[in-house]
Amino acid sequence: MEPLPFRPLRPYLRERFGREVHRVALDAGSTCPNRDGAKGFGGCVYCDVEGSGTGALRTGAELAEQLERGIARVARRDPDPGVIAYFQSYSNTYVERRRLEEVLGVVEPYLGTRVVCVSVATRPDTLPPEALEVLAKLNERVPVWLELGLEAADDRVLEDIRRFHTVQDFRDAAARAHAAGLEVIGHAILGLPGDGREGARRSARLLAETGVAGVKVHNLMVLRRTQLEHWHREGRVDVLDCETYVDWLADFVERLAPEQVLHRLTGDAPLEERIAPRWDVHKSEVRERLSAELARRGTRQGSRAD
Ligand code: SF4
Repeated sequence: MEPLPFRPLRPYLRERFGREVHRVALDAGSTCPNRDGAKGFGGCVYCDVEGSGTGALRTGAELAEQLERGIARVARRDPDPGVIAYFQSYSNTYVERRRLEEVLGVVEPYLGTRVVCVSVATRPDTLPPEALEVLAKLNERVPVWLELGLEAADDRVLEDIRRFHTVQDFRDAAARAHAAGLEVIGHAILGLPGDGREGARRSARLLAETGVAGVKVHNLMVLRRTQLEHWHREGRVDVLDCETYVDWLADFVERLAPEQVLHRLTGDAPLEERIAPRWDVHKSEVRERLSAELARRGTRQGSRAD
């Protein structure tokens, strides 16, 4: 079989961990400075009230239960799964050191057995040195990935979507995480208002330049109970159709570094929560369409990297 013209996650995980690895998403019930008033209220314009997460719950016991149930769920499909404990919702390092230690402590019983990696999502401006210390210490025992939201590599766009951090914040956070020995996964959204096709290219260049190990990218989606829902109803914002998204995604992938692993290529919000787009193309089909587009162009991941 022809190798894919980009570097997808699944074969990378198999090669790295020597087994099938599944993500278990966890909600530690944190918050973020865009919601608690430190920087703003109401969140980024596209974020729903569950903080782009699972909507599951929060106390130490509940968190341990989330992980236990998640592991049991994947074990029903796979007799010997490896698990990435994925602290997904909100800004997980936007808490005091003790709380972060408590949250991460839920993986303890599974280290060396089920949990092969811990992935922690946060914002670039909520990464104090104490949090990095805690993550670096855990990283001595199990690989720790830090998932950092860039979303767009343009401060004007970031301001318009009310991210309330800057591109420089992302650069700084990625550099500090790398210095602490952590792997970074950068997030980007294609089709943000005012970002355009050139924005997709700019985000990829920035992610390549900062040397993040992995990249998650998806198309802008308008979810219920978000600011974007109002903007969409007022006709102030539109979303990409599938063909355009794949076209811009090909631009994006061409400008990444060849070794960066693509952890995600599309969003997966359920249709009942999603106002737009209404196209529901399975992620495997997005992968196939991307491969076909790159083949048509005669390019691949990294072809247009600086
Ligand atoms: S996307 Fe992240 S930073 Fe933005 S409001 Fe939601 S939880 Fe906060």
